Amino acid sequence: MMLKYCQQYGFSTHGIRQRLDLVALSSQDLPAGQELHDATIRPRLDDIVEAFYAEMLRHEPIRVFLDNPTLIASLKQTQKKYLLTLGLKFNEPDYFEERLRVGLAHARMRIPLNLYICAYRTMSQAIEDVLPEATRSDPMAYARAVEFLRKITTLDMSLAIDTYHLSRVSALENSLETLKEEENHLRHLAETDPLTGLANRAMLEHSLADALAALQNDSQMLGVLMADLDHFKRINDNHGHLVGDGVLREVAARLRSAVRDVDVVGRYGGEEFMVVLTNASFDMACEIAERIRSRVAGTPINVHGTTVAITISLGLAVAEAGDTALTLTRRADDALYQAKDQGRDRVVVAPITGQ
Ligand code: GH3
Ligand code: MG
Ligand code: MG
Repeated sequence: MMLKYCQQYGFSTHGIRQRLDLVALSSQDLPAGQELHDATIRPRLDDIVEAFYAEMLRHEPIRVFLDNPTLIASLKQTQKKYLLTLGLKFNEPDYFEERLRVGLAHARMRIPLNLYICAYRTMSQAIEDVLPEATRSDPMAYARAVEFLRKITTLDMSLAIDTYHLSRVSALENSLETLKEEENHLRHLAETDPLTGLANRAMLEHSLADALAALQNDSQMLGVLMADLDHFKRINDNHGHLVGDGVLREVAARLRSAVRDVDVVGRYGGEEFMVVLTNASFDMACEIAERIRSRVAGTPINVHGTTVAITISLGLAVAEAGDTALTLTRRADDALYQAKDQGRDRVVVAPITGQ
């Protein structure tokens, strides 16, 4: 089974081999790692760590991050642990796992990557400075040790960059996700009528404009229904506004149930509703209008134990050449007023002007 970070960063056996190849490390270098550990790192551990921190703390940008002695003492301990594994069994997943874990810890501490990478050079120099005399006096052995040190440091630097990169990407992905959720929430608020959950007037106008624009590209039909509850004021007067609100909610649900999925039903204002009927034939538009009328009037509405009978009047207009949202809405509205004039609880279809 792959280890957690190795899995996350794609370091399968193949990935590990590829990375080692890139820094020219192979199993032939394993003895060099063991020797570095036995002859230099373990015996001179404290010296390396002290020299490293003495050098690091000379630099102002680093002092900003390492600004208290307790933090420095704890980092020194961490670094000792890190050094005691440096270069040992570097071709095993555990080695990669530990390096990725350490890199991620630094990324989360918000230590800048540029400083972190520069620190690798300082660390490698601090080790090089304490190579044993036997190595220093043998040019071949010295070159081998320095070469190994360079490769193993480069491997760690490359892994550090991976961890920083991925932690930045996942942080960005998270904030993108949050922004999308907020955007969806805001869009929902901007488009929805809070009382009924139907589209609000802005959304209706937007949908109507879109449907009219689409109409110019093909010959499909577009219908607009304006609907207004009959004598709604009496309901408020007789039963109070809360019951009135409950009636509006139930009417909204009945409207939604009477239209097709493609239709946009909204609350135009007060107790007026609008339906944008896209791709509806004339007969279909009439059928939907009549279905709305009969569903609203069919069964009295029960709100918190109060039963209220209600009817609705509707005006239907079908888009014609040259129509704008305004002209089309106005014809539907005129038809609605005729429905009121003719006695309410009915559908009136606006005459086709044939322009
Ligand atoms: P008509 O048949 O001619 O349409 O008569 P109507 O009583 O329905 O017409 P009118 O426009 O006089 O009354 C509409 C009423 O709708 C008045 C207003 O108090 C009520 N109303 C508007 N918005 C709301 C709302 O959000 N909640 C409640 N409870 N009432 C509302
Ligand atoms: Mg009314
Ligand atoms: Mg009204």
